[in-house]
Amino acid sequence: MLALLVVYVTVAVLQAVLPGRWVDGYAFDSSGRRLRYHLNGPLVFAVVIATYVALAATGVIAWDVFYIERFAMLATAVAIGVAFTLAIVLPAPRVHTSLLKDLYLGRLENPQWLGGRLDAKMFLYLVGATMLELCILSFTAHHWLTHHHRSPGVFLYAALFTFFIVDYISFERVHLYTYDFVAERVGFKLGWGCFAFYPFFYCSALWFAADLPNPHVHRVWLFVSALIFFAGWVLARGANLQKFAFKTHPERTAFGPFAQRALVSGDKRVLISGFWGLSRHVNYLGELLMATGLALSLGYPSAFWSWLYPLYYVALLVPRQIDDDRRCKEKYGPLWDEYQRAVPKRIIPFVY
Ligand code: NDP
Repeated sequence: MLALLVVYVTVAVLQAVLPGRWVDGYAFDSSGRRLRYHLNGPLVFAVVIATYVALAATGVIAWDVFYIERFAMLATAVAIGVAFTLAIVLPAPRVHTSLLKDLYLGRLENPQWLGGRLDAKMFLYLVGATMLELCILSFTAHHWLTHHHRSPGVFLYAALFTFFIVDYISFERVHLYTYDFVAERVGFKLGWGCFAFYPFFYCSALWFAADLPNPHVHRVWLFVSALIFFAGWVLARGANLQKFAFKTHPERTAFGPFAQRALVSGDKRVLISGFWGLSRHVNYLGELLMATGLALSLGYPSAFWSWLYPLYYVALLVPRQIDDDRRCKEKYGPLWDEYQRAVPKRIIPFVY
């Protein structure tokens, strides 16, 4: 319990005190100015992971401490998530019609402390990602330490997931332009989600696979798993970067091989080329493919637990796309109808 608290408090303290770059976000504060963010996620992440490696290498903690203590840590994370939700929601003015809705969705849009050095959303995503990486490293170490016939799939899974997390943290500025930062408030969904759900559920397949022997899948299987993962990464990262370039440098006429074509009406502009011409949320397809590649890499395709993480993405992203369409229709009006006619599919090109 204390180890988890130490990780969470350390991330908060490091985020506030370590040097970072100040950037303008995409969301506005209550006075109509762009919110400023203090970004140092990669440095905080590197310091925490290096500390874990140093402590484990010198025998102060076990390499698989987060696996051995996983249930106590999960219970602690659940309690921290609930306590955080109550502390951030209850003192703020009411927003929704019911208290339950306020607790779940939150009241405050973008709480920041210490003059902006600590932003609630940036902190929550960083603490979730860092703890997830610690779980992945530690669970993989458990597999390494306890099995003679080790599964290459476990190491592939750990490598792909580490890539996913490092990539996510490296592009932290791009995330300021996403739905969470613009449309969501800080409550149980985000707070409990990042303290408890993100670090412990995302690697749910490894909870099972870490303690299983090598399923002996063919190396072509592992190669195809990695291929599916990276195909997803190209779609998700490509789409996110293209939109980021479109929003931050509207004068640019091309994004890599793609012409930046947009529907324009007054000061409203909707991107219709490149990734955004394939489907209206091809980045969500990318996310689903990455989750599928991860599920396959472990080599237990008929086990239900392999598919918990991809299924969670379907449950998260399908309603999110529908909600985002509604939000964009309100914002862009007839321009969005035109976009829907030009790009009729929601997530999967030609299919859905
Ligand atoms: P998007 O990045 O797709 O952002 C949606 C917003 O982008 C819209 O509200 C609109 O906002 C703008 N937009 C949408 N279409 C266009 C267009 N054609 N032209 C111009 N602007 C457009 O979605 P998310 O923020 O949900 O996701 C961001 C990334 O995070 C994705 O890759 C997603 O898959 C990933 N993600 C990851 C999760 C995880 O747990 N790993 C969970 C959820 C998301 P506006 O016009 O106001 O700018």
